Parts: sequence; C-alpha cells; structure tokens
Amino acid sequence: QNQRIRAQVSDQIVNDHGFVLEDVPHLTNFLPDLPSYPNPLQKSQAYAIVKKTFVSSEDAVAQNIVIQKDTPRGVHFRRAGPREKVYFKSDEVRACIVTCGGLCPGINTVIREIVCGLNYMYGVDNILGIEGGYRGFYSRNTTTLTPKVVNDIHKRGGTFLCTSRGGHDTNKIVDNIQDRGINQVYIIGGDGTQRGAALIYKEVEKRGLPIAVAGIPKTIDNDIAVIDKSFGFDTAVEEAQRAINAAHVEAESVENGVGIVKLMGRYSGFIAMFATLASRDVDCCLIPESPFYLEEGAGQEYVAQNMPGVDEKDASGNRLLLDIGLWLTQKIKDHFSEVRKMTINMKYIDPTYMIRAIPSNASDNIYCTLLAQSAVHGAMAGYTGFTVGPVNSKHAYIPIAHVTEATKKVKLTDRMWARLLASTNQPSFLNRSDNS
Ligand code: ATP
Ligand code: MG
Repeated sequence: QNQRIRAQVSDQIVNDHGFVLEDVPHLTNFLPDLPSYPNPLQKSQAYAIVKKTFVSSEDAVAQNIVIQKDTPRGVHFRRAGPREKVYFKSDEVRACIVTCGGLCPGINTVIREIVCGLNYMYGVDNILGIEGGYRGFYSRNTTTLTPKVVNDIHKRGGTFLCTSRGGHDTNKIVDNIQDRGINQVYIIGGDGTQRGAALIYKEVEKRGLPIAVAGIPKTIDNDIAVIDKSFGFDTAVEEAQRAINAAHVEAESVENGVGIVKLMGRYSGFIAMFATLASRDVDCCLIPESPFYLEEGAGQEYVAQNMPGVDEKDASGNRLLLDIGLWLTQKIKDHFSEVRKMTINMKYIDPTYMIRAIPSNASDNIYCTLLAQSAVHGAMAGYTGFTVGPVNSKHAYIPIAHVTEATKKVKLTDRMWARLLASTNQPSFLNRSDNS
C-alpha cells in the first residue's frame, strides 16, 4: 500500500510539473505503519527565525537548469533539508560515521558537522565513529563521538577516524551494524565507497531493517557525476597553485628552465584545468581527457604500452596507473639533449600528498557544513540509500546508484576547456600540425 502511495505521489509530481522525479528510497516504503514524529527543529532557536523551516517532500531540484525549447524538463531530485515529520525519535537514534578511500581536505569538517548537526539540531547523543574504513565495522574498535570530541578536528587534515582501502564485506558489515543496534549510517568516501554504500543499503533493505544509509561523496578530483563539485576540490585547486608557482619561479630563475607539475585526477582533469585557469603561470596543461602527443604516441596509453609488466591494482581493486609525470619529464629531457643538443634545467614537482593532507579552506568548510547537515536532515526524515550534494547549487538527495553510474570528466567540447586553451595559448592537440 505504501508503495502505491509513493507511486501516486511521484506520478502527481510528473503530471503537475511535467518532470521526472528520480526518487530516493524512504524507510516507510519498506516498513509500513511506522509513526512519524514532529521534527525537534520546530522548537529550535536556530530555526525560530527562518521563514520556512521545513522543506516539503515534494520540492525538487532540476538536474538540467537550462531548459531548451522543445526538450524534456529532465530528471529532478528531492530537495535536501529538514522535513516537518521525522522518522526517528531522537533518543532512539544510534548513528555511526565511517570514512573510506583516499584523503581529501574537509573530511574532518564533515565528521564534525554530522556529529554537531545530530546533537545540536536533533538532540542525538549516541554517535559512533567506525575506525579505519569499511573493515573497521568488523575488525576494529569504535570510538564515541560527541561535539566536544570533534570540536577542533576541522583544523587538521586527514581523517580523524582513519581510512583504508579494500575490506568491504557487505554481510559482515550489515551483521555488525545490526549487532550494534545502529540505525543511521553515514558513509564518507569516493566512487568505490559509494558503490559499497549502495550494497550496504540493498542488504539492509533485503533484511527489512529500519536503518538509514546516507552517503557523503568525497573525491578531491571532482569526478563524481551529477553533483556540482565535491568538497576539498576548491582547497586542492588553491594549494595546487602554490606548486605551480614554485615550478614557475624555478623555471624563470635559470637558463633553459622547464617546470613540470603533476596534479591529481587519474581519469578527470578538473584540478589541472582549474588550477591552470586560476594561476596563469602555465604554458601547457595536459589532462587525461585530451590525448596529447610529443613526437610520437600519446599520454597514459603510451606510457602503459612502453612500460610492460606493470598492471597492478590497489587493495580496493583500482588499477594503479603509471607515473605520467616522471615519464614526461624524462621524455622532455631526452628530446632536448638528443634532438636539440641542449641542456635544460628541469624541475619536476609532485605535490599530491601535500595537497591531500591539508585542512579545507573557508569555502570548502562552509560547503562541508551544508553537506553534513543535509545528510543529517535526510537520515532523520527516514530517507535512505541516498547521496547528498548540490545540483545546480541547490542541495539534493540523489539515489546512490545515480552518482556511481558514470565518472564525471572534463568535456573537451564544453566552453571551459576552450577558455583554458585561449588563456594558455597552447596547442589543442586536435591535429598533429599544431605541434610545430
Ligand atoms: P578515492 O578513489 O577518492 O580514494 P574511493 O572511495 O573510490 O575513494 P576506494 O579505495 O576505491 O576509494 O574504495 C573505498 C572502499 O570502498 C574500500 O574499502 C573498498 O573495498 C570499497 N569498494 C570499492 N569499490 C567497491 C565496490 N564496487 N563494491 C563494494 N565496495 C567497494
Ligand atoms: Mg575511487
């Protein structure tokens, strides 16, 4: 019956407003007849002056903001924010937070704001930190999180809860969630982590458990689909400029100076593109999306072909890519000594770990707060199997599967790449005659 009501609500939204709602699951859809409690924010001082405290569950955020004539209005998502009725009674909530995958500026801010958001807005004081990533659910101790414990952690880089790769065992994780009586799971991590979160959500649903699973997307590379940008990206671009500046100063200060900076973004060149646009010290920006050539061959594919025997994977099963920066540095050195008979002064900088390890900047800190509070509002309202994030600058609840389907990449046909080419005046590498 609840499924039917839900279908009717969705149909209504399609009929009234002419768009398709990409719906997130709600716990009441799987477990009918559970009561809804009034949202404690009704009595909160913080929200007393807000004109419209609660977001209607029918409010939606459009994925396509530019509506062209005669084209469908496209997919919409539920708008994030506090709901008038909540699914969980505050003193019955037992929440946990876990962080997985690589480091990214802002993770600690998200942890802090989930803890403070649950406690200050909803009066929840039963929050566990799962240590060391997914495997922490079954192989490590947990830690109790309170606003006092997390008070200063946003000033530090890294993750207060530690992280890991690999070790995702859905059944063991859900058994453990069940054993510990956890009913809200907050999962902070990248594409792999979100895939793992989707499996946890599915298993929880299969077992018919009243547990909300919320994903907070973390990727320094900004490669998560649908959402505008990921937290830590802004900080990364800012810090990358320091490396670019160092390379520029070194190259300018000597005869025949060449500076090469390798930035993160194994498959998506957003950091390189934005750092280049921001800094103005870059003569040529190479990204994975744009195949380039020297005299022969191309980028990563070329490195792989010419360095056989290296096809390793990390603990999570991600292919370990070869170091394009080192390869390029060597190639340029060889070119100048062998072809041009010149000695060059090459400075190669790889700031990856320096960038990942710093705390987030002001704009990312604000952004992390919004993400965390949106996730808390969503889980409290009984939404589950969702990832939170801004879509056209409005925060939305997005079904997890929707963000893991594809990786966001720089579109060479979009205006931003053209702006970069215009700014650096570099070859587009679209045809080989550019290379002269
Ligand atoms: P990043 O790539 O930004 O560092 P990530 O979340 O993609 O972050 P991974 O190391 O790929 O990092 O994955 C993190 C966790 O998610 C690991 O514990 C891994 O076991 C788990 N995981 C990755 N892919 C999957 C998958 N397809 N199904 C289930 N679990 C997965
Ligand atoms: Mg990943």
